Amino acid sequence: MRVNTLVQLADFRKQWDASRDRYIEAVDRVGRSGWLVLGTEVESFERDLARYWELPHAIGVANGLDALELSFRALGARPGDVFLTTPLSAFATTLAILRVGGIPIFADVDGSGLLDLNSAEQLLGSAAKKPRFFVPVHLYGHAMPLGDLTEFTRRHELTLVEDCAQAIGARSFGRPVGSAGRICATSFYPTKNLGAFGDGGAVLTSDEGLMQSVKCLRDYGQSSKYVHDRVGLNSRLDELQAALLRSVQLPLLREQTRRRTEIAKAFLDGIRNPKLSLPVVPAGSESVWHLFPLLVSGDRESFRMHLKDNQIANGLHYPTLIPHQKAIVDAGLPVQMGAWPMAERFANAEVSIPLHPFLAESEIVRVIEACNSWKG
Ligand SMILES: *Cc1c(COP(=O)(O)O)cnc(C)c1O
Repeated sequence: MRVNTLVQLADFRKQWDASRDRYIEAVDRVGRSGWLVLGTEVESFERDLARYWELPHAIGVANGLDALELSFRALGARPGDVFLTTPLSAFATTLAILRVGGIPIFADVDGSGLLDLNSAEQLLGSAAKKPRFFVPVHLYGHAMPLGDLTEFTRRHELTLVEDCAQAIGARSFGRPVGSAGRICATSFYPTKNLGAFGDGGAVLTSDEGLMQSVKCLRDYGQSSKYVHDRVGLNSRLDELQAALLRSVQLPLLREQTRRRTEIAKAFLDGIRNPKLSLPVVPAGSESVWHLFPLLVSGDRESFRMHLKDNQIANGLHYPTLIPHQKAIVDAGLPVQMGAWPMAERFANAEVSIPLHPFLAESEIVRVIEACNSWKG
């Protein structure tokens, strides 16, 4: 009998094999240039990324966490500022808020798993201190409705910072995510849709002043060599990462996004199991399918065991709500238990099945069959 190989959540070996010569060429170019930090590779990548994203400026930074922190700092965030955000995300979204001394408050999510503006509205009605910042996350590769974000932000006099780490290239009613506010942040962590070979991130903005500010802050707050105008970070993107991103990963992104969308459609059409709820795409979202989150009715562990028995990897996004994490509880922040029923449902019932551009047709079929053969 033929033994099936594991269907992985991401396949970095296949990624390497598919473009090996071009990766090596990019590394060789940097090596031969003799310039390793903040040079022409970073500049060229920033230009190409901004063009792809249809936003005027991109600034390469060390990772997605820093991209958020730098965005907040460029906007003048101060300790004690209140940030309205989501309890269901990578921990980094809230960690960046804590890093600038901010106080996060959490609105519940909707049936897509993305921040629910009605819940946010109610929270603002009862908040002890008015938030200054609004940090929604375009989670799972979906785009939140940008028009609604803008309207909500204006009405409540907030400053909007979109977390686009999972949604590079996603659009809402034709507009790119990240364009609703003055600034947005993204990540090139290897599992992200545009992944580096290690850490990387970027800030994008249409505001020239903010662009200058982030460029200064990512490099020790220097305005020019040995002149330090602000207290900055060391959060530079390496020339090597920029070269790999610019020469290989970014030119592949459109095709890989198309492939992700095709696979998502195969899952949406093929998975028919009354115990598994399919992802709900927000109105107007052209999603880039960073993940494919299912909601399991019944015993989640039994479904995960069934996938494991069929040699199919799975993930949980995310099993513990951010406000329930020890770091948050220990920080003494006010935590409202049971305040996020829909986010709790995702924490308790969500399972992500493999979705990446290197899945073979036979693997897609195996994933669908495993989902459909689970009896619950
Ligand atoms: C990955 C991620 C981040 C953090 O990015 P890093 O590069 O890992 O620091 C922030 N927000 C979201 C939604 C993410 O998925």
